[in-house]
Amino acid sequence: MNNDHPVFSVMIQGYWRMAEWGMTTQQHHAFLKQHIELGITTVDHAPVYGPESACERLFGDVLALDSSLREQIQIVSKCGIYRGHGNQVNHYDSSKAAILKSVDESLERLKTDHLDVLLLHRPDLLMDADEAAQAFSELKAAGKVKHFGVSNFTPAQFSLLQSRVEEPLITNQVEINPVNLQVTEDGTLEQLQQARIRPMAWSCLAKGELFSGDSEQLTRLRQTLAEVGEEIGASSIDQVVFAWVMRLPSNPLPILGSSKIERVAASVKALELSMTKEQWYRIWTASKGHGVA
Ligand code: NAP
Repeated sequence: MNNDHPVFSVMIQGYWRMAEWGMTTQQHHAFLKQHIELGITTVDHAPVYGPESACERLFGDVLALDSSLREQIQIVSKCGIYRGHGNQVNHYDSSKAAILKSVDESLERLKTDHLDVLLLHRPDLLMDADEAAQAFSELKAAGKVKHFGVSNFTPAQFSLLQSRVEEPLITNQVEINPVNLQVTEDGTLEQLQQARIRPMAWSCLAKGELFSGDSEQLTRLRQTLAEVGEEIGASSIDQVVFAWVMRLPSNPLPILGSSKIERVAASVKALELSMTKEQWYRIWTASKGHGVA
């Protein structure tokens, strides 16, 4: 990876649910190798994934088993969410000390000496942007993190942090799917398109709800996704959703959540699909329950 220009695979494998997959280290190793072979070299983690940060730990076991994989992948991890213990409530902390400590702990668990990308996981209402920027500078100077970004930030929160951080923030990782249209309506994607920054799109399949939910919206969506899928030559509705997400002009990088390599392989095929504007808006209309004005 060039130090100044981050390079990610066009789809990213998410590891949020890794601790629930019930796989051995050897099986995790096989899964990682297989998705690398499919061209998915960027992986998404966070300290809060799995109980007691289990997902970063399990992934570190894979890298310990086969250290040659580290240079073939780009690791994204995050910081800033704290699970309250005892009487404490869950809270956010983006102070310099908290960021530095969180990264050291992630590196230890992941058994690596650097993160390719560090994201502030959620907007901290008490964030002092100067402090966060100082933490980023120190991490960069120490070679512990190559690039920085945010997740779930509003455009105003993104602009505030960017105004204090020396180098360009490289993404805002946000929920993008046809069920929840928020980021298509609140300026988040426009801000990223304007700056030519690619969003990372989480829960493109609405956490699997697209397949199982029985609301009117989800029923309409499934029907329309199947109809459009037939028109564009997709073999499953997940492929249609990924094509719908990637049709957005901000060029989102979808983060896949499946544990099944055959589903990951099917999702990659979405890269070969193209969707007309009318088909895109037909899915939007199915989500909204009404057409455009
Ligand atoms: P998702 O793709 O919306 O949902 C994945 C779930 O859907 C899995 O449980 C998967 O089960 C199921 N699924 C996939 N295809 C299916 C099918 N054809 N039929 C039935 N079920 C199907 O993604 P996600 O896991 O919610 O999120 C993806 C990644 O985004 C996470 O791993 C994480 O890295 C990231 N994320 C980030 C944030 C943030 O705040 N930054 C928040 C949430 C997630 P199988 O394993 O059985 O396929």
